[in-house]
Amino acid sequence: INLHLKNVGCVGMCHQVPLVEVIDENKHSKLYAKVKPNEVADIISTHFKPKHFLDRLKSKAYNFLEKVQSDESWEGVDRYMIDVRDEMVSSFLDRQLPVATEHRGVINPLDMDEYRSFGGFEALRTVLKMDRHEVIRTVKESGLRGRGGAGFLTGLKWELVEKEKGEKKYLICNGDEGDPGAFMDRMLLESYPYRVIEGMLIAAFAVQATDGYFYIRAEYPLAVIRIRQALINCREQNLLGENILDSNFNFDIQIYEGAGAFVCGEETALMASIEGNRGFPTIRPPFPAQKGLWGYPTLINNTETFAQVSYIIRNGNDHFSAIGTEHSKGTKVFSLAGKVNRGGLIEVPMGITIRQIVEEIGGGVQNGKKFKAVQVGGPSGGCIPASLYDTPIDYQSLIEVGAMMGSGGLVVLDEDDCMVDIARYFLSFTQNESCGKCTFCRVGTKRMLDILNKITSGKGTKKDLDELKYLADWTKKGSLCNLGKSAPNPVLTTLQYFHDEYEAHIEGRC
Ligand code: SF4
Repeated sequence: INLHLKNVGCVGMCHQVPLVEVIDENKHSKLYAKVKPNEVADIISTHFKPKHFLDRLKSKAYNFLEKVQSDESWEGVDRYMIDVRDEMVSSFLDRQLPVATEHRGVINPLDMDEYRSFGGFEALRTVLKMDRHEVIRTVKESGLRGRGGAGFLTGLKWELVEKEKGEKKYLICNGDEGDPGAFMDRMLLESYPYRVIEGMLIAAFAVQATDGYFYIRAEYPLAVIRIRQALINCREQNLLGENILDSNFNFDIQIYEGAGAFVCGEETALMASIEGNRGFPTIRPPFPAQKGLWGYPTLINNTETFAQVSYIIRNGNDHFSAIGTEHSKGTKVFSLAGKVNRGGLIEVPMGITIRQIVEEIGGGVQNGKKFKAVQVGGPSGGCIPASLYDTPIDYQSLIEVGAMMGSGGLVVLDEDDCMVDIARYFLSFTQNESCGKCTFCRVGTKRMLDILNKITSGKGTKKDLDELKYLADWTKKGSLCNLGKSAPNPVLTTLQYFHDEYEAHIEGRC
């Protein structure tokens, strides 16, 4: 028998890790969840008999598992032996639709042959034979919108950069994910490095970019390691550098590690950071498409946006645009976290409701508690209450209820959570991360935080609520960048949907 032991990228089931999948010679698959090192021997003996293979494999698998889990953190955790057909796993996966996470749990992230065996770099080969305007048209007609939060039409952004003249053009992959509770970019960079690079190559060809950057926060060391190695492998395979795949297309990518300032996720601050300046956002126009990095036209897309591109080229724009809703096409990756039974990384078609995500994929709220709200979009998003449980997840619907897609964090809250505390937590994050350039954000968020501290310490008055709303409205209107413009969202949505909780604090009822 040939036995192979391999690592794969993220499967999304954070609630079941460490996961071991055994596939036998008849291609029967069995998944083992929450595996402990001392269970490896049993698992292997169950499936594979020849003794001389077993000892070597057991020690390799054991060592691997020892690395990924400490005995302390796994004490008292039951091991579940689950089959892939098991209802618990299938319901977690059934509602999902992997596009950016296609072939998850199957491909070794850095194995290029394996990536190729699943169609990897076919889209790039196709594109290199196409007219670049045709590539842009395909992406435009797919309806793909930027997955970093703003939701700008990707093909249109590409078109704007393509139209600009210049001896140089830059392309940047924004992997500066900093929202509390979000880990989508991290997972995509760690698990699908070639898919993201392929998306960048296609975009670079379409807009005629000459130089590329990965902007990845330094707190993601594994993502940086994998991307660095993937870039080396791509250069060796003539997928980066000069005359890529024997075409006349030249493009290369380097990595820039961000130091962790949340504001550097904003495009103009991100470019300032790469240039070695302080990460201050600047007024637009000029837009990055006109005058970006080092003054040259620059295309910036989020990691997830690039991860969707090869799928669109391979399957066609019609196929992609058939997924989702009228104005929000395709799928979205979310990190499902908080008080939910099955947390993890999920990818779902646009238009799925919050209820379907929490109840069907997430298996409901932990410990049988009542669902109270979900914080969508991280600190820039809003808290959506149980009364809006059936809100569809798409750009427009989320804005209508006062939240926003953001980059895709979903934090589930239960009946025990105090919504004023939640608003204070997210506001303290954005207040801390404000770059201080403009008064409304610098002072407005600070004054709002002071009021929230006053209310939660039992010293608030009803007049404070009016002041809070007034400051929130003006901070939204008067801030320069989206950090300040969206910072009041958690306060505004909790004031709207959970006003009674603010009053309870003021009246000393809690
Ligand atoms: Fe800086 Fe806030 Fe102004 Fe953005 S809104 S530029 S983060 S002070």
